[in-house]
Amino acid sequence: MSSRLMTRFALGSLLAFLAVGITVSVVVSRELRNRQEDAARFHAQFVAESILRYELSASDVSAPLAVNGPRYRELVQFVRARILQSPVVRVKIWSRDGTIVFSDEPRLVGQRFAVDEELKEAFAGKSVGGVTNLRADENVFEQSLASKLYSTYTPLYIGTAAPRGTPAAVVEVYQDYARIQDEVNRLFGELILTLAIGLAALYVILVPIIRGAARTLSEQNMKLEQQAGRLEELLSNEKRTVGELRELNRLKDEFVAIASHEVRTPLTSIIGYAKTLRRPEFADDAAARNEFLGAIERQGDRLHRLVQNLLASSQVEDDLNRPSLTTFRFQDVVEEVLVGLGAGRPRIGFSVPPDLEPIVSDRQRVELILSNLLDNALKFSLGETACRLEAHREGDTLVFRVRDEGVGIPADKLPRIFDRFYQVDSSVTRQYGGVGLGLSLVKQLVSSLAGQIEVQSRPGRGSSFTVRLPAFRAIGDQSIGPDLAHAKTPVTSRAAP
Ligand code: ADP
Repeated sequence: MSSRLMTRFALGSLLAFLAVGITVSVVVSRELRNRQEDAARFHAQFVAESILRYELSASDVSAPLAVNGPRYRELVQFVRARILQSPVVRVKIWSRDGTIVFSDEPRLVGQRFAVDEELKEAFAGKSVGGVTNLRADENVFEQSLASKLYSTYTPLYIGTAAPRGTPAAVVEVYQDYARIQDEVNRLFGELILTLAIGLAALYVILVPIIRGAARTLSEQNMKLEQQAGRLEELLSNEKRTVGELRELNRLKDEFVAIASHEVRTPLTSIIGYAKTLRRPEFADDAAARNEFLGAIERQGDRLHRLVQNLLASSQVEDDLNRPSLTTFRFQDVVEEVLVGLGAGRPRIGFSVPPDLEPIVSDRQRVELILSNLLDNALKFSLGETACRLEAHREGDTLVFRVRDEGVGIPADKLPRIFDRFYQVDSSVTRQYGGVGLGLSLVKQLVSSLAGQIEVQSRPGRGSSFTVRLPAFRAIGDQSIGPDLAHAKTPVTSRAAP
């Protein structure tokens, strides 16, 4: 980025400098030429006004001098001595009618040529100069002097009287143009050299400044790009968060609907059975009363589990209480949980080694984990199929597994079943009760006990949840200590082969 900018600057400024250089050269060379030509004109004027004016008399210019005469020779000598010095190469004195009355070239004296504009203007009192390429008739004898001459027509006033009045004649002074050109070239060369050195110095000074600026620009550009990247990341995080919040909101609405349904159903049954019991015809029917009371108990248990789950869920979430560790027999907890499962209990076969040592853990939490897993196993399998609970010790770890041969969980849903409020089937017409809290609670509880949970499942064939808890260490051991509530539960979910 920076080098591209630099190249562009280098080329651009080089072109600009060249353009400036060329323009300045053209203007300056024109100006120098004008100056040199002005100087040539001044010199011619000087010749006419300061030299010839005092040397010539009116009679010398009134008619062509006889080139054999003494006056002509005298004048020629004077002119050669005083005037014909580089760059002046020829002098002609014109009369008003276009006759050359004097020249250092004798063959020209007495010749008459057409009166041109310059001659007229000079007789009108102006000094006129110009470059001649010597093609005119009057220039035949100058062709041997140079390839180009600068000729100046200057009015000639005779004597010392002023004002000047009408010119007595016009002096034409020829100067070698090559000399003027040489001078122009010399001055031009000097100027161009100075200009080139100046521009080069400026360029050399500017390049590092621009390089620094380009570097700063490119650094700022990079910073801006990084900031834009960061902003993009923030924005996408923000979007994700908004998405998650929306999803949570949806889940919350769904949860409220499901939870109220889950509470209402057992309550309606309980109220219904209670009202029936009050009817006189059942006053003496011990069997029916027993059945109704059993039903009320079952529905009460269901309600109790639901409320317990809700409470435990919010408690585990908000309360970072350390687990309350005690030493107890796992078998006892299993017994208690099975009793709580009421009618489902006979379907559960369990094999827990009778000699399994007491474990060190949070009894209430282990109980909740077990009851939820067993409740799910019963709920998601048909009435007659068996469910199994197995437990054993592996080193310091208690491993227990709850298996069923029920509906199973599709592989793509497995990673989500531990999410709060998630249910594979959350439709209103769903077949199974529940509010989608059980497994998320189980996950949190296992985590608070520094354990791991793993699930394997196959739709139509059943599911198996395996929990590993560090449970055979002394109380106060760090591995199941206070920090466990913050530990992350590694959850593994696998579709069963
Ligand atoms: P719920 O109150 O719906 O039982 P959970 O959090 O306990 O909530 O379970 C979440 C979802 O995981 C259930 O709705 C069900 O779809 C699925 N699930 C849990 N356990 C089992 C199982 N043993 N067999 C089949 N599906 C299960």
